Amino acid sequence: MITILSETTKNPITLMGERAGVCWGADIRNAERNYKRGLDCIKSGHHRVMEYVNVEMILEGYSARVIREWYTHIGGAPTRLQASTRYINYKDFSYITPPSVAGNPEAERIYRETMETIAAACERLESSCGIPREDAAMLLPLGMSTKIVDKRNVRNLIEMSHQRLCTRAYWEYRGLMQDICRALSEYSEEWKYLTEHYFVPKCDVAGYCTEKKSCGRTKVFEPGADNINRLRE
Ligand SMILES: Cc1cc2nc3c(=O)[nH]c(=O)nc-3n(C[C@H](O)[C@H](O)[C@H](O)COP(=O)(O)OP(=O)(O)OC[C@H]3O[C@@H](n4cnc5c(N)ncnc54)[C@H](O)[C@@H]3O)c2cc1C
Repeated sequence: MITILSETTKNPITLMGERAGVCWGADIRNAERNYKRGLDCIKSGHHRVMEYVNVEMILEGYSARVIREWYTHIGGAPTRLQASTRYINYKDFSYITPPSVAGNPEAERIYRETMETIAAACERLESSCGIPREDAAMLLPLGMSTKIVDKRNVRNLIEMSHQRLCTRAYWEYRGLMQDICRALSEYSEEWKYLTEHYFVPKCDVAGYCTEKKSCGRTKVFEPGADNINRLRE
């Protein structure tokens, strides 16, 4: 479902250290020192260096709905291409079935029949009524699976993980984020370290929960002068 493309930086931590080393007059030919410097930058919160790390990947088999949410992460001007709804044969489009629906035979039947009805209507509009595919495609559901080619920096992706690994995030997005962590951790040892230590829900970063409907994992943030002391209790 996730394909990490070869343009993705192989050694992200080393690259971060190399870029920082330029500014500090360091010997950037030493990979080991670059790695250590990169780690220090991340730990110190000097996250501008993360913007030199490129991530290019293909996301395939996720719903148009989750990709719509994916597009809200705009920090650092990411870019992407998405499968066209004009040229692909959507008469037999594939779609995501939520576990709650899949686990309920009656719900599954209603859901599947609705998808089949949409597919049949798209086809009839095209073949019987001469409606162009780009117009028949207006009927396609958000649950339809799609494919994108995405390019962004790792600072954006880590920020995204804080939002989307949170239990308040949409279940499919949490799964997508976990798929990305898995794929990146297989790409190199440095990615394994980054995903294990920095791709975490936002309560792990803040030390408290910012969501109104908290899952209860940490204390909830309440704006106010006493907040810091209250959270220390
Ligand atoms: C539980 C949940 C429910 C949601 N519900 C909805 C919803 O109903 N409708 C909806 O539209 N969205 C919804 N969202 C999406 C949410 O509002 C954000 O659009 C999404 O999280 C991406 O924004 P971001 O700041 O997290 O990430 P990014 O856009 O990648 O930004 C990362 C960081 O970069 C900085 N940044 C980014 N852009 C700017 C800027 N223009 N100016 C200054 N700093 C910037 C900020 O520090 C930001 O934290 C929901 C998200 C969650 C997790």
